[in-house]
Amino acid sequence: MKGSSVQLAAEWLRKGEVVAIPTETVYGLAGNAYNVDAIQKIYDVKNRPLSNPLIVHALNIQQVKSLVKEFYAEAEILAKSFWPGPLTMILPKAAIIPDIVTAGQQTVAVRVPSHPLTLELLSLLEFPLAAPSANKFNYISPVTAEAVSEMLGNEVPYILDGGRCQKGIESTIVSFVEKQIKILRHGAITEEQIESVLQKPMSEQKSSGHLHPGMFKKHYSPKTPLWLMNRNSDFTRLRFQKNIAAICFTENFPSVPVKEKIMLSNSGDLEEAAQHLYSVLYELDKGNFDLIIAEKMPDAGLGKAMNERLIKAAHKHYN
Ligand code: AMP
Ligand code: MG
Repeated sequence: MKGSSVQLAAEWLRKGEVVAIPTETVYGLAGNAYNVDAIQKIYDVKNRPLSNPLIVHALNIQQVKSLVKEFYAEAEILAKSFWPGPLTMILPKAAIIPDIVTAGQQTVAVRVPSHPLTLELLSLLEFPLAAPSANKFNYISPVTAEAVSEMLGNEVPYILDGGRCQKGIESTIVSFVEKQIKILRHGAITEEQIESVLQKPMSEQKSSGHLHPGMFKKHYSPKTPLWLMNRNSDFTRLRFQKNIAAICFTENFPSVPVKEKIMLSNSGDLEEAAQHLYSVLYELDKGNFDLIIAEKMPDAGLGKAMNERLIKAAHKHYN
């Protein structure tokens, strides 16, 4: 069932059920973060491997502090600047967080979301919510309650409808390994925003022994083959493809015979483009095209986050 009652959502969650919730990034599939059975249901519904840990969503900084062993000084600065909002921090976990939430790691991913309905829901609950994106593992994240309903409608008792997600892509994830802040996943808060708050440059995550968001090569993928291209790509490769759809930002691939062409933003605005990216991918994937070509985004600001997703969504890269 789909509706906008936080009371109903709270009732299901108190019974140990999973409920789809709106956030400013994408829809989440939420369960009581302290309840192992509820968390197991999240992994089952998503077909998500148990090795891929979940983000815990809390009402405010105080609640987050009850979930972690240490809250570093720089975490405090970032929390003050970006919470409630789309920044996830990886911190040493407190014993109250079950191992299944963190895939057995000693760290937990935490954030305070900014969607008013979900904040209201969290204020009614006696527990925080573990919530990955409300899609099947590897598929496109949903940004509307309708998309959640199409993807998981038969498998969740309630979808809390909070309208279209304002940001449209996932949160940015930062870690503090050896007190060094690193971006593990680019997302709705840009690297530039974080650097300007901390007044220092960030270091990028290099592959470590730990589980991290970049560990799955394929992700966010439509079923239709997707090729990532730019203006210098060799378009003769497309000559045997019939039904092509194109997702464009600055280019409009004039020499490519496409059936449908979608501009992510008419004004060249990255925020608007990010907001549209998943819903455009999702709609085109339903459109029976043989191929989707997508333009590579500029490699700065939200463009970085979008490229990270497009690269994982792409079957082939010609850029
Ligand atoms: P999703 O909620 O679907 O956006 O996925 C959450 C992301 O957070 C996954 O890519 C996880 O790998 C990452 N994540 C969650 N917990 C941790 C952790 N303790 N350490 C590193 N990455 C994490
Ligand atoms: Mg996800």
